[in-house]
Amino acid sequence: MFRLALFILVTSQFAFAGALENVRERVEGSSNPVIIFDLDDTLTDSRERMLRVFHSLGPEFEKLHYRDLQYEPGDTLKHIGYTDAAMIEKISNAWYERFFSNAYVAGDRALPGAVQYVQAVYDEGATIVYLTGRDAPRMKEGTLKSLKLNRFPLGKRTILRMKPDKSLSDAQFKKSEIEWIGNQGDVVAVFENEPTNINLLVDGFPKSQPIFVDTIHSPKPVEPYPTIPWILDFRLDLRE
Ligand SMILES: [Mg+2]
Repeated sequence: MFRLALFILVTSQFAFAGALENVRERVEGSSNPVIIFDLDDTLTDSRERMLRVFHSLGPEFEKLHYRDLQYEPGDTLKHIGYTDAAMIEKISNAWYERFFSNAYVAGDRALPGAVQYVQAVYDEGATIVYLTGRDAPRMKEGTLKSLKLNRFPLGKRTILRMKPDKSLSDAQFKKSEIEWIGNQGDVVAVFENEPTNINLLVDGFPKSQPIFVDTIHSPKPVEPYPTIPWILDFRLDLRE
Protein backbone atom coordinates (compact mmCIF):
# COMPACT_ATOMS: atom_id res chain seq x y z
CA MET A 1 0.00 0.00 0.00
CA PHE A 2 2.78 2.38 1.01
CA ARG A 3 4.75 1.51 -2.12
CA LEU A 4 1.72 2.14 -4.26
CA ALA A 5 1.14 5.52 -2.60
CA LEU A 6 4.80 6.41 -3.06
CA PHE A 7 4.68 5.35 -6.70
CA ILE A 8 1.59 7.50 -7.34
CA LEU A 9 3.17 10.46 -5.53
CA VAL A 10 6.43 10.19 -7.45
CA THR A 11 4.85 9.68 -10.85
CA SER A 12 2.36 12.54 -10.38
CA GLN A 13 5.23 14.81 -9.31
CA PHE A 14 7.05 13.87 -12.50
CA ALA A 15 3.95 14.53 -14.57
CA PHE A 16 3.72 17.97 -13.03
CA ALA A 17 7.43 18.74 -13.26
CA GLY A 18 7.25 17.90 -16.95
CA ALA A 19 4.24 20.11 -17.51
CA LEU A 20 5.84 22.98 -15.60
CA GLU A 21 9.08 22.64 -17.49
CA ASN A 22 7.09 22.72 -20.68
CA VAL A 23 5.31 25.93 -19.63
CA ARG A 24 8.63 27.60 -18.76
CA GLU A 25 10.21 26.53 -22.03
CA ARG A 26 7.23 27.92 -23.89
CA VAL A 27 7.46 31.22 -21.99
CA GLU A 28 11.17 31.45 -22.84
CA GLY A 29 10.57 30.56 -26.47
CA SER A 30 7.88 33.15 -27.11
CA SER A 31 8.24 36.90 -27.65
CA ASN A 32 4.78 37.58 -26.19
CA PRO A 33 3.74 34.67 -23.96
CA VAL A 34 0.32 34.66 -22.28
CA ILE A 35 -0.85 32.29 -19.54
CA ILE A 36 -4.51 31.91 -18.54
CA PHE A 37 -5.37 31.11 -14.93
CA ASP A 38 -8.88 30.53 -13.63
CA LEU A 39 -9.35 31.82 -10.06
CA ASP A 40 -11.83 29.76 -7.99
CA ASP A 41 -10.25 26.44 -7.01
CA THR A 42 -7.43 26.93 -9.50
CA LEU A 43 -5.55 29.73 -7.69
CA THR A 44 -7.84 30.40 -4.71
CA ASP A 45 -9.81 28.25 -2.29
CA SER A 46 -13.57 28.65 -2.74
CA ARG A 47 -14.35 26.03 -0.11
CA GLU A 48 -12.88 28.28 2.56
CA ARG A 49 -15.30 31.02 1.36
CA MET A 50 -18.20 28.50 1.36
CA LEU A 51 -17.43 27.73 4.99
CA ARG A 52 -16.95 31.39 5.94
CA VAL A 53 -20.38 32.21 4.47
CA PHE A 54 -22.07 29.37 6.36
CA HIS A 55 -20.43 30.46 9.60
CA SER A 56 -21.76 33.99 9.03
CA LEU A 57 -25.35 32.76 8.68
CA GLY A 58 -25.86 31.82 12.31
CA PRO A 59 -24.64 29.87 15.32
CA GLU A 60 -26.35 26.71 14.02
CA PHE A 61 -23.57 26.50 11.40
CA GLU A 62 -20.69 27.16 13.77
CA LYS A 63 -19.57 23.54 13.76
CA LEU A 64 -19.82 23.04 10.04
CA HIS A 65 -16.53 21.64 8.73
CA TYR A 66 -14.81 21.32 5.35
CA ARG A 67 -15.79 17.65 5.21
CA ASP A 68 -19.51 18.59 5.36
CA LEU A 69 -19.33 20.82 2.29
CA GLN A 70 -21.06 19.72 -0.89
CA TYR A 71 -20.77 21.61 -4.16
CA GLU A 72 -24.14 23.38 -3.71
CA PRO A 73 -25.30 24.87 -0.37
CA GLY A 74 -28.65 23.07 -0.59
CA ASP A 75 -26.83 19.73 -0.73
CA THR A 76 -24.65 20.74 2.21
CA LEU A 77 -27.80 21.54 4.20
CA LYS A 78 -29.35 18.17 3.30
CA HIS A 79 -26.08 16.48 4.21
CA ILE A 80 -26.23 17.92 7.74
CA GLY A 81 -29.86 16.95 8.24
CA TYR A 82 -32.08 19.70 6.82
CA THR A 83 -35.23 18.28 5.18
CA ASP A 84 -37.63 21.22 4.83
CA ALA A 85 -37.47 22.41 1.21
CA ALA A 86 -38.65 25.96 1.94
CA MET A 87 -36.07 26.32 4.71
CA ILE A 88 -33.29 24.94 2.49
CA GLU A 89 -34.21 27.42 -0.22
CA LYS A 90 -34.32 30.35 2.17
CA ILE A 91 -30.90 29.59 3.66
CA SER A 92 -29.42 28.83 0.22
CA ASN A 93 -30.59 32.19 -1.14
CA ALA A 94 -28.97 34.03 1.76
CA TRP A 95 -25.83 31.96 1.23
CA TYR A 96 -25.64 32.72 -2.53
CA GLU A 97 -26.08 36.42 -1.89
CA ARG A 98 -23.02 36.48 0.37
CA PHE A 99 -20.95 33.94 -1.54
CA PHE A 100 -21.16 36.02 -4.73
CA SER A 101 -20.30 39.34 -3.12
CA ASN A 102 -17.35 41.71 -2.86
CA ALA A 103 -17.46 41.50 0.92
CA TYR A 104 -16.90 37.76 1.06
CA VAL A 105 -14.70 37.18 -1.99
CA ALA A 106 -12.27 39.81 -0.66
CA GLY A 107 -11.24 37.33 2.06
CA ASP A 108 -10.38 34.50 -0.35
CA ARG A 109 -7.07 32.77 0.24
CA ALA A 110 -4.59 31.42 -2.26
CA LEU A 111 -4.14 27.68 -2.71
CA PRO A 112 -0.73 26.33 -1.60
CA GLY A 113 2.11 27.45 -3.87
CA ALA A 114 -0.20 29.34 -6.27
CA VAL A 115 1.17 32.84 -5.59
CA GLN A 116 4.79 31.71 -5.97
CA TYR A 117 4.02 29.88 -9.18
CA VAL A 118 2.16 32.76 -10.86
CA GLN A 119 4.90 35.17 -9.73
CA ALA A 120 7.57 32.90 -11.19
CA VAL A 121 6.02 32.73 -14.66
CA TYR A 122 5.21 36.46 -14.52
CA ASP A 123 8.87 37.19 -13.72
CA GLU A 124 9.89 35.00 -16.63
CA GLY A 125 7.99 37.36 -18.93
CA ALA A 126 4.49 35.95 -19.27
CA THR A 127 1.38 38.11 -19.43
CA ILE A 128 -1.06 36.73 -16.86
CA VAL A 129 -4.76 36.55 -17.69
CA TYR A 130 -6.97 35.87 -14.68
CA LEU A 131 -10.05 34.46 -16.43
CA THR A 132 -12.85 33.96 -13.95
CA GLY A 133 -16.54 33.13 -14.06
CA ARG A 134 -17.12 35.65 -11.27
CA ASP A 135 -19.16 38.63 -12.49
CA ALA A 136 -17.78 42.15 -12.32
CA PRO A 137 -20.83 43.98 -10.86
CA ARG A 138 -20.98 41.84 -7.74
CA MET A 139 -17.35 40.74 -7.33
CA LYS A 140 -14.73 42.85 -9.11
CA GLU A 141 -13.76 45.03 -6.18
CA GLY A 142 -13.47 42.07 -3.81
CA THR A 143 -11.57 40.00 -6.37
CA LEU A 144 -8.94 42.73 -6.80
CA LYS A 145 -8.68 43.08 -3.02
CA SER A 146 -8.11 39.36 -2.58
CA LEU A 147 -5.52 39.19 -5.39
CA LYS A 148 -3.68 42.10 -3.78
CA LEU A 149 -3.86 40.77 -0.22
CA ASN A 150 -2.53 37.39 -1.34
CA ARG A 151 0.24 39.16 -3.32
CA PHE A 152 -0.64 37.68 -6.70
CA PRO A 153 1.05 39.67 -9.49
CA LEU A 154 -1.00 42.74 -10.46
CA GLY A 155 0.64 45.08 -12.93
CA LYS A 156 1.19 46.05 -16.54
CA ARG A 157 1.28 42.45 -17.71
CA THR A 158 -1.74 41.18 -15.77
CA ILE A 159 -5.32 41.23 -17.04
CA LEU A 160 -8.46 40.40 -15.08
CA ARG A 161 -11.37 39.19 -17.23
CA MET A 162 -14.75 38.80 -15.53
CA LYS A 163 -18.31 38.21 -16.69
CA PRO A 164 -20.05 41.50 -17.50
CA ASP A 165 -23.14 40.17 -15.72
CA LYS A 166 -24.20 37.03 -13.94
CA SER A 167 -26.60 35.75 -16.62
CA LEU A 168 -23.93 34.01 -18.75
CA SER A 169 -22.78 30.53 -17.80
CA ASP A 170 -19.06 30.19 -16.98
CA ALA A 171 -18.52 28.08 -20.09
CA GLN A 172 -20.37 30.53 -22.39
CA PHE A 173 -18.34 33.41 -20.98
CA LYS A 174 -14.96 31.67 -21.23
CA LYS A 175 -15.66 30.53 -24.76
CA SER A 176 -16.58 34.09 -25.73
CA GLU A 177 -13.22 35.32 -24.36
CA ILE A 178 -11.04 33.06 -26.52
CA GLU A 179 -10.77 35.39 -29.49
CA TRP A 180 -9.97 38.50 -27.42
CA ILE A 181 -7.34 36.72 -25.31
CA GLY A 182 -5.83 35.17 -28.44
CA ASN A 183 -5.26 38.69 -29.73
CA GLN A 184 -3.21 39.64 -26.65
CA GLY A 185 -0.31 37.34 -27.50
CA ASP A 186 0.79 33.76 -27.73
CA VAL A 187 -1.26 31.67 -25.26
CA VAL A 188 1.32 29.16 -24.02
CA ALA A 189 -0.56 27.61 -21.08
CA VAL A 190 -4.04 27.36 -19.52
CA PHE A 191 -4.90 26.34 -15.94
CA GLU A 192 -8.40 25.28 -14.85
CA ASN A 193 -10.19 23.16 -12.25
CA GLU A 194 -13.40 22.68 -14.28
CA PRO A 195 -13.27 19.84 -16.84
CA THR A 196 -15.72 21.66 -19.17
CA ASN A 197 -13.62 24.82 -19.10
CA ILE A 198 -10.20 23.21 -19.53
CA ASN A 199 -11.58 21.30 -22.53
CA LEU A 200 -12.99 24.42 -24.18
CA LEU A 201 -9.70 26.26 -23.59
CA VAL A 202 -7.81 23.38 -25.20
CA ASP A 203 -10.20 23.61 -28.17
CA GLY A 204 -9.61 27.38 -28.33
CA PHE A 205 -5.83 27.22 -27.82
CA PRO A 206 -4.79 23.82 -29.17
CA LYS A 207 -1.07 24.71 -29.11
CA SER A 208 -1.06 25.67 -25.40
CA GLN A 209 0.03 23.47 -22.49
CA PRO A 210 -3.16 22.78 -20.49
CA ILE A 211 -3.00 21.86 -16.80
CA PHE A 212 -6.01 20.54 -14.88
CA VAL A 213 -6.01 21.50 -11.19
CA ASP A 214 -7.71 18.65 -9.33
CA THR A 215 -9.29 20.47 -6.36
CA ILE A 216 -13.09 20.49 -6.52
CA HIS A 217 -15.35 20.91 -9.51
CA SER A 218 -19.02 20.83 -10.43
CA PRO A 219 -20.69 17.40 -10.36
CA LYS A 220 -21.35 17.48 -14.14
CA PRO A 221 -20.29 14.18 -15.76
CA VAL A 222 -17.49 15.69 -17.87
CA GLU A 223 -13.88 14.50 -17.81
CA PRO A 224 -10.84 16.53 -18.87
CA TYR A 225 -9.44 15.34 -22.22
CA PRO A 226 -7.18 12.34 -21.47
CA THR A 227 -3.99 14.06 -22.67
CA ILE A 228 -4.24 16.88 -20.10
CA PRO A 229 -1.86 16.58 -17.11
CA TRP A 230 -3.37 16.92 -13.61
CA ILE A 231 -1.94 18.61 -10.53
CA LEU A 232 -3.24 18.70 -6.96
CA ASP A 233 -1.78 22.12 -6.18
CA PHE A 234 1.15 24.38 -7.04
CA ARG A 235 3.63 23.28 -4.37
CA LEU A 236 6.94 22.65 -6.04
CA ASP A 237 10.49 23.71 -6.06
CA LEU A 238 10.84 26.75 -8.29
CA ARG A 239 14.50 27.43 -7.49
CA GLU A 240 15.98 25.44 -10.36
MG1 LIG B 1 -12.64 27.45 -11.08
